[in-house]
Amino acid sequence: MDAPRLTSAERVVFPDAGITKGDVADYYRAVARWLLPELVHRPLSLVRCPDGIASHCFFQKHHAGALGEHVRAIRLQELEGEDDYLYVDDLAGVLELVQMNTLEFHVWGARVDDVEKPDRLVFDLDPDEGIAWNDVKSAARQVRDRLAHVGLRSWVRLSGGKGLHVVVPLRRSADWGQAKAFSDAFADAMVEHAPDRFVSTASKSARTGRIFIDWLRNARGATSVTGWSLRARAGAPVAMPLSWDELGRVRHPGAFDLRKAMRRARLLRRDPWTGLLRVRQTIPASID
Ligand code: ATP
Ligand code: MN
Repeated sequence: MDAPRLTSAERVVFPDAGITKGDVADYYRAVARWLLPELVHRPLSLVRCPDGIASHCFFQKHHAGALGEHVRAIRLQELEGEDDYLYVDDLAGVLELVQMNTLEFHVWGARVDDVEKPDRLVFDLDPDEGIAWNDVKSAARQVRDRLAHVGLRSWVRLSGGKGLHVVVPLRRSADWGQAKAFSDAFADAMVEHAPDRFVSTASKSARTGRIFIDWLRNARGATSVTGWSLRARAGAPVAMPLSWDELGRVRHPGAFDLRKAMRRARLLRRDPWTGLLRVRQTIPASID
């Protein structure tokens, strides 16, 4: 592959951490082996920060302008009309998006060859301020156990922000309507079993002292940050896939920054999400 052009490599992107655009490109190159399996062939949304994280960043979900010759377009139906979305097949596409000052990569829970059939669900756990990290971890394990109870295996990742994502791979049989209905019912069941711990409505007041299970990530067109993506936040944190065993040893939600993630990429022997791509499971008919 010809290395895509990178301009302004010296420009500082994360001022607090002294990380430049060139460092960001080096990062994505270094973690490509672990990043690409989850990122490729899915409609993408981007967080782009042309002047670094201290200035204006914007969220982009449509293909527009000249993003790069390896950045693909796919025309998708929207509520009204249709529009071009973007995806990549390989590292060259990722690096072209880095050239366009992309820091974060968010993906659909479906692949471009069949966008109407989700191949995964994401339960995003958003803790209210003041909730201890250990309680967030045990909440994720409760979600895992309840999913297992209805026959679904799940995997976990640090969001790189405050919370955790529990991810459920699916065979592509149900449509988005079924995925959303199941996710809604599942979140309600979590709340019913532990009302002092979980809430499934987005209202701020209901969240006091609780963890919001955001099940609305499982709607057509919704996105979640992909594993190994940088976050456009102070310290250059990374959204990191973990094994459930590792989660027990992680001391805080921002445990992986760019440098630690690069080191992890180098030392990792196998994907912490091993098994996710092979498991064959479908949404159960009932959640009881
Ligand atoms: P945290 O642990 O801090 O909650 P997160 O990755 O779960 O991190 P956000 O980064 O806050 O959550 O993202 C919330 C959701 O909104 C995601 O589905 C993301 O794809 C989407 N999103 C993020 N930024 C924007 C934006 N500017 N406009 C529209 N949607 C966005
Ligand atoms: Mn979240």
